[in-house]
Amino acid sequence: MEILTDTHEHRALFYNSDEWRELRERVLERDHYECVMCKAEGRVTDEADSVLEVDHINELEYYPEQALDIDNLRTLCKDCHNKRHHRFQYANSAKPKVESKWSKDERWD
Ligand SMILES: [Zn+2]
Repeated sequence: MEILTDTHEHRALFYNSDEWRELRERVLERDHYECVMCKAEGRVTDEADSVLEVDHINELEYYPEQALDIDNLRTLCKDCHNKRHHRFQYANSAKPKVESKWSKDERWD
Protein backbone atom coordinates (compact mmCIF):
# COMPACT_ATOMS: atom_id res chain seq x y z
CA MET A 1 0.00 0.00 0.00
CA GLU A 2 1.38 3.37 -0.96
CA ILE A 3 0.92 5.95 1.73
CA LEU A 4 0.54 9.56 0.66
CA THR A 5 1.45 12.10 3.30
CA ASP A 6 2.40 15.17 1.30
CA THR A 7 -0.71 17.22 1.97
CA HIS A 8 -2.78 17.91 5.01
CA GLU A 9 -5.69 16.01 3.44
CA HIS A 10 -3.56 12.93 2.81
CA ARG A 11 -2.25 12.97 6.36
CA ALA A 12 -5.79 13.31 7.70
CA LEU A 13 -6.77 10.21 5.70
CA PHE A 14 -3.73 8.38 7.03
CA TYR A 15 -4.56 9.22 10.63
CA ASN A 16 -8.08 7.91 10.07
CA SER A 17 -6.92 4.58 8.64
CA ASP A 18 -7.41 1.31 10.49
CA GLU A 19 -3.72 0.52 10.04
CA TRP A 20 -2.71 3.67 11.88
CA ARG A 21 -5.26 3.26 14.66
CA GLU A 22 -4.09 -0.27 15.31
CA LEU A 23 -0.41 0.61 15.23
CA ARG A 24 -0.96 3.64 17.44
CA GLU A 25 -2.44 1.38 20.13
CA ARG A 26 0.58 -0.91 19.88
CA VAL A 27 2.97 2.02 20.33
CA LEU A 28 1.06 3.25 23.38
CA GLU A 29 1.19 -0.24 24.86
CA ARG A 30 4.88 -0.63 24.07
CA ASP A 31 5.65 2.70 25.80
CA HIS A 32 3.43 1.77 28.77
CA TYR A 33 1.09 4.71 28.09
CA GLU A 34 3.77 7.18 29.20
CA CYS A 35 5.41 10.11 27.42
CA VAL A 36 8.92 8.95 26.48
CA MET A 37 10.37 12.48 26.51
CA CYS A 38 9.08 13.18 30.01
CA LYS A 39 10.33 9.75 31.04
CA ALA A 40 13.83 10.59 29.76
CA GLU A 41 13.76 13.56 32.16
CA GLY A 42 12.64 11.38 35.04
CA ARG A 43 9.00 12.43 34.97
CA VAL A 44 5.98 10.22 34.53
CA THR A 45 3.33 11.72 32.29
CA ASP A 46 0.52 9.34 31.50
CA GLU A 47 -3.08 9.58 30.36
CA ALA A 48 -4.15 10.91 33.72
CA ASP A 49 -1.82 13.92 33.35
CA SER A 50 -2.12 14.79 29.69
CA VAL A 51 -3.29 13.68 26.30
CA LEU A 52 -0.94 11.09 24.85
CA GLU A 53 -0.12 11.27 21.18
CA VAL A 54 1.95 9.03 18.96
CA ASP A 55 4.73 10.90 17.20
CA HIS A 56 6.63 10.06 14.01
CA ILE A 57 10.32 10.50 14.87
CA ASN A 58 11.12 11.00 11.18
CA GLU A 59 8.25 13.22 10.25
CA LEU A 60 5.33 11.75 8.39
CA GLU A 61 5.33 14.50 5.81
CA TYR A 62 8.88 13.74 4.65
CA TYR A 63 9.22 10.03 5.37
CA PRO A 64 6.01 8.39 4.15
CA GLU A 65 7.83 5.05 3.85
CA GLN A 66 8.25 5.10 7.65
CA ALA A 67 4.63 5.99 8.31
CA LEU A 68 3.81 2.55 9.70
CA ASP A 69 7.26 1.62 11.03
CA ILE A 70 6.83 1.01 14.75
CA ASP A 71 10.51 1.84 15.32
CA ASN A 72 9.81 5.31 13.96
CA LEU A 73 7.02 5.92 16.46
CA ARG A 74 6.99 7.04 20.06
CA THR A 75 4.48 8.13 22.66
CA LEU A 76 4.54 11.81 23.59
CA CYS A 77 2.31 13.91 25.81
CA LYS A 78 0.60 16.86 24.17
CA ASP A 79 3.11 19.34 25.61
CA CYS A 80 6.18 17.49 24.36
CA HIS A 81 4.55 16.90 21.01
CA ASN A 82 3.74 20.58 20.59
CA LYS A 83 7.24 21.59 21.64
CA ARG A 84 8.77 19.17 19.20
CA HIS A 85 6.78 20.50 16.27
CA HIS A 86 6.93 24.13 17.42
CA ARG A 87 3.20 24.27 17.19
CA PHE A 88 2.55 27.04 19.65
CA GLN A 89 2.56 29.78 17.05
CA TYR A 90 0.01 27.93 14.95
CA ALA A 91 -2.64 28.58 17.57
CA ASN A 92 -2.88 32.07 16.17
CA SER A 93 -3.69 31.65 12.51
CA ALA A 94 -2.81 35.22 11.58
CA LYS A 95 0.32 35.43 9.50
CA PRO A 96 3.22 37.34 11.02
CA LYS A 97 3.36 40.86 9.70
CA VAL A 98 6.33 41.38 7.45
CA GLU A 99 7.80 44.84 7.25
CA SER A 100 7.27 45.60 3.58
CA LYS A 101 10.38 47.74 3.22
CA TRP A 102 12.57 44.80 4.14
CA SER A 103 10.66 42.13 2.30
CA LYS A 104 11.25 44.06 -0.91
CA ASP A 105 14.96 44.39 -0.28
CA GLU A 106 15.57 40.83 0.78
CA ARG A 107 15.69 38.42 -2.08
CA TRP A 108 16.46 34.79 -1.46
CA ASP A 109 16.25 33.43 -4.95
ZN1 LIG B 1 5.97 14.75 27.79
